[in-house]
Amino acid sequence: MKFNTKAIHGGQQNVDPGYGAVMSPIYQTSTFEQISPGQHKGFEYARSGNPTRSAYEKAIASLENGKHGLAFASGLAAIDAILKLLKPGDEVISTNDLYGGSYRLFNGIYKDLGIKFHFVNMQDPTAFLPYLTEHTKLIWAETPTNPLINILDLEALSKIAKTHNLLLAVDNTFATAYLQRPLEWGADIVMHSATKYLGGHSDLIMGSVVVSDDALAKKLYFIQNASGGIAGPMDSFLALRGLKTLPLRMQRHCENAKAVAEFLQQHPKVERVFWPGLSNHPQHDLATKQMLDYGGMVAFTTKGNSYTEALKFLERLKIFTLAESLGGVESLAGHPVTMTHASIPKADREKTGIVDSLIRLSVGIEDKTDLLLDLDKALG
Ligand SMILES: *Cc1c(COP(=O)(O)O)cnc(C)c1O
Repeated sequence: MKFNTKAIHGGQQNVDPGYGAVMSPIYQTSTFEQISPGQHKGFEYARSGNPTRSAYEKAIASLENGKHGLAFASGLAAIDAILKLLKPGDEVISTNDLYGGSYRLFNGIYKDLGIKFHFVNMQDPTAFLPYLTEHTKLIWAETPTNPLINILDLEALSKIAKTHNLLLAVDNTFATAYLQRPLEWGADIVMHSATKYLGGHSDLIMGSVVVSDDALAKKLYFIQNASGGIAGPMDSFLALRGLKTLPLRMQRHCENAKAVAEFLQQHPKVERVFWPGLSNHPQHDLATKQMLDYGGMVAFTTKGNSYTEALKFLERLKIFTLAESLGGVESLAGHPVTMTHASIPKADREKTGIVDSLIRLSVGIEDKTDLLLDLDKALG
């Protein structure tokens, strides 16, 4: 099946054996009747498995071209489950340009539990070789990165991971399976905050993990059931509904982001624009190689790098909503320094280029003429 067909039908055969509903019903139940002790119709207790969650898990696995999907209560619960594959003494090499909440989880919780993290710039995939030790178990990559929209070379990272027998996990939230499928480049684990583009309508918090290896899937399923950070049936239903229109929405997100990036690039008040579709983006060729299109996230800085000007710009926007998050149908704007990346110390932040005037846009699917007008007015 081609991707657009999979988005509607992937893993979705017989989602309602009872009545043949075309969409998976919302199985809002905690438990399932057993015919005789231990004998049931595939589900026994809804932490261990729920048909609505299972329908979503099969759909996302199909879209990522993986074998096994797992759905969690949030993107961070999904990352948490992946980190539980590790033991005290293990080491992780993570990209240094990553989602602030991932950094907080690594550094604020798992570090104290005895896991060592090295945060390195992975734009040069060999840069982390000096940090490899016999204890290194996992590479954590995110591409495109947040908020600077840098691109990491998935094929190169996966070759290094294979050579050194490490797991490669990729946070695919920004690209989605429509634009990029890390498992096809050799990654072992792909993770999503389904809260963003997969759900697509800013109405849920959810996460997912997809893998192809059966033994790895078994371990993750054990963790999902044992730790219990599962996605509920209502959220699973909404995310599944979101997946159906993922290709259509992503096409419009990319088209509008292109218009926004090109508009900002020629604007006299703008210093720099970060969008991998621009030919002056440092990893433009790499993005072209591993992604179908360049995504809906655009970041930029203004001339003079003024903190107050950045805040004023955000206050003046009318159509772009000033809010955390991304990936919904509506356009959002944010200020990483005070919002998403506030938990990263200033010195670390500035090392990676997250400066005071940096604005991050999640370009929605509205009419692009209105979006450009809004940006132009707010820039003043
Ligand atoms: C939002 C986000 C997360 C965390 O997901 P939640 O659903 O908010 O827990 C992780 N990674 C990236 C890239 C994100 O944008």
